[in-house]
Amino acid sequence: MVTGDIDEHGELDPDSSVVALAGDPLYIGVKLTDEELRLSEVRLLSPVLPRSKVVGIGRNYAAHAAELGHELPAEPLMFLKPNTSVIGPGDPVFYPRQSQEVHYEGELAVVIGRICRDVPAERAADVIFGYTVGNDVTARDLQRSDGQFTRAKGFDSFCPLGPWVETELDVTDLRVRTFLNGDVVQDGSTKDMIFDVPSLVAHVSSVMTLLPGDVILTGTPEGVGPMEVGDEVDVVIEGLGTLTNKVRRRD
Ligand code: MG
Repeated sequence: MVTGDIDEHGELDPDSSVVALAGDPLYIGVKLTDEELRLSEVRLLSPVLPRSKVVGIGRNYAAHAAELGHELPAEPLMFLKPNTSVIGPGDPVFYPRQSQEVHYEGELAVVIGRICRDVPAERAADVIFGYTVGNDVTARDLQRSDGQFTRAKGFDSFCPLGPWVETELDVTDLRVRTFLNGDVVQDGSTKDMIFDVPSLVAHVSSVMTLLPGDVILTGTPEGVGPMEVGDEVDVVIEGLGTLTNKVRRRD
């Protein structure tokens, strides 16, 4: 969050008060300070800036795989988004000049809290710091023409995250909705994931070491579609919050 000119972390309480934290919850630990603000007085930044990677999972909801014309994956389909694609709530998604078809993908995002490798699914909770809301913005035309996902999903601003990290949350059955200019366009539940969160942590960490602050985007329900310059997109996850971003042309 930003208070005045200062970027700092804060702890959000249920009464919408925010207590500023000294330190960083993911990298060096924190202490509560005596600075207390209202949520309305701060500007929220991305609650996590991954130092190494955002791991995306493709086609993790059967109905979404079907709408793109794909078979169900036998194993989680992984790709990477660069950490430079991350933006926060209210930041603009820039429409790249190379694309004519930019889609929203509302998703549950997992924030990793500990360095780990080869995590068994039954121990995944030990390495998860918390959860936030993500939008896996995708240039669908470039995804089709490139055959791989790096460019289509890697543009600066293509990974909105926020509004905060929820550290106590059961994510097995949460409603995930996306609104385009106020109209609901995606309405799914995390219970329909093909591979659940513990399985994803196990799968990804069997390939690459996960570091504190790494993010796993868990896939999107059906209903993906285009956003145009000027559109506003809200991704809403039950028990978590609303992530809002607008699409802009870069000046
Ligand atoms: Mg996605």
